[in-house]
Amino acid sequence: MTITENRARTVGHIIAGRDVETGDEAIDRRAPGTDAVVSHVLAGGAAEVEQAVRAARTAFDEGPWPRMTVAERALLLNRVADLIDRDAAELATLDAEESGKPITTAEGDIAGAAALWRYAAALALTMEGTSFTGNGPDYTGLVIREPIGVAGLIVPWNFPALILSQKLPFAIGAGCTTVVKPSEFTSSSAHRLVQLIHEAGIPDGVVNLVVGDGRAGQALTESAGVDIISFTGSTLTGRRVVTASAGTMKKLSLELGGKAANIVFEDADLDDAIAGVVHGVIFNNGECCVSQPRLLVHDAVADEVTRGVVERMKRVRVGQPLDRDTQLGALIHAQHKEKVSSYVERAAESGAEVLTGGGVLTDPALGAGQFVQPAVIDRVAADSPVFQDEIFGPVLGITRFSTVDEAIALANGVAYGLANTIWSKGVDNALTAAKALRSGTVYVNTTIDAPPQMPFGGYKASGVGREMGQAGFDEFTELKAVSIRTGRRHETFPAI
Ligand code: NAD
Repeated sequence: MTITENRARTVGHIIAGRDVETGDEAIDRRAPGTDAVVSHVLAGGAAEVEQAVRAARTAFDEGPWPRMTVAERALLLNRVADLIDRDAAELATLDAEESGKPITTAEGDIAGAAALWRYAAALALTMEGTSFTGNGPDYTGLVIREPIGVAGLIVPWNFPALILSQKLPFAIGAGCTTVVKPSEFTSSSAHRLVQLIHEAGIPDGVVNLVVGDGRAGQALTESAGVDIISFTGSTLTGRRVVTASAGTMKKLSLELGGKAANIVFEDADLDDAIAGVVHGVIFNNGECCVSQPRLLVHDAVADEVTRGVVERMKRVRVGQPLDRDTQLGALIHAQHKEKVSSYVERAAESGAEVLTGGGVLTDPALGAGQFVQPAVIDRVAADSPVFQDEIFGPVLGITRFSTVDEAIALANGVAYGLANTIWSKGVDNALTAAKALRSGTVYVNTTIDAPPQMPFGGYKASGVGREMGQAGFDEFTELKAVSIRTGRRHETFPAI
């Protein structure tokens, strides 16, 4: 990274351990909080991607990395975690500035990223296959777990360092080599992270970085030198990834959009539920795949919960991302702010009622940025856009129910299946709903709350495959079945 006169960073590629500054005209990144240009991101394309894939291929086919002992690899992963901790303030500032998220959230992301590197190091240490010896005394079956090869890792803008760390240490911990493609909106922390990876002593070519927009992502997906694409982003782009990968038949792991519901039963602790519902929709500006933008609330407690949520939502502090008091920062860019606002403006068209939000922010400190008031919309119909679409902003829609079956049907009645939350102190409601929900994650009496040991991924249009947990590590591996016989065999084959 170089800094120009106006203090903006130039973010280029890192291929085989070297800075590469080619590509189309740079993409200017404006900070969502101030609209000032903070970075120029070089627009890599097919040429840079192929160069990076070649470097990763060579590092995998000929380099030391896949041949090292797991202890050697784990040691280096832990070293990266220590460097992330050392430079946590810098990494958090880069992510808050470029994504618009509150700095305190970005700090949590970076602590989470370091934890993921350490967890992946532990999984690397225990990487193993199995054996099968139950097919007669002369038979031994070995199931060998191997790294899959070159992994292309495509990352969105909402958790730049964190989501990269849900993929990268697992991939390289398994012995893969990689090409990383961060979002064009938030490339700086990925660039810094790749520098730290080299500082830790991970060999050149194991982690390569190509910055740029969707064209670089598409070239990576189409590349014949890539064995797996691990993609996180919208369902729309996920479909493009499926199509673009067809020609080369590679493995895909897809973490896509979501539209989670909070289900508040009448036996919930209502204080917990109200606080959790508001956190669930404003966390990370509502720009979170497991954000909880739908509140399904039992008739018996609906008025009380709605009142509590609206009061709390009005107290949310909207502010500059780098201000430590900020609870809701700036949305990623102007076009996204317009999209989010339009859902609030058009809510009445389908019979809903805006209880708070949608107003103009008058604080002059927020004038140039992409800020919105968090919104609560009541009486949201199940077939309306507020209920169905991934709005990806601080907009909560409330829908009432009277039976458990109705609550489950409503929760499952969207295209997505990433996460849902249940608020109930009763084991009947909580367990019945947890089992019936069609989502990869269910939170009970908590929300957006899971450690790296828990596998994460989507049902339905929310994705294919898993990240984190043992399953997330295994995504980056192949299983090889080796069947071995001892003793003489010729009489067991057909007599020819
Ligand atoms: P996006 O789909 O626009 O972009 C994601 C990444 O894909 C970016 O790096 C982008 O440059 C790249 N890309 C764009 N076009 C491409 C193409 N044709 N081929 C390959 N790559 C391409 O998503 P976004 O706006 O950056 O992120 C927000 C979305 O991500 C939301 O839908 C959100 O729900 C989802 N998300 C999902 C998870 C999850 O774990 N399920 C986590 C975070 C975000």
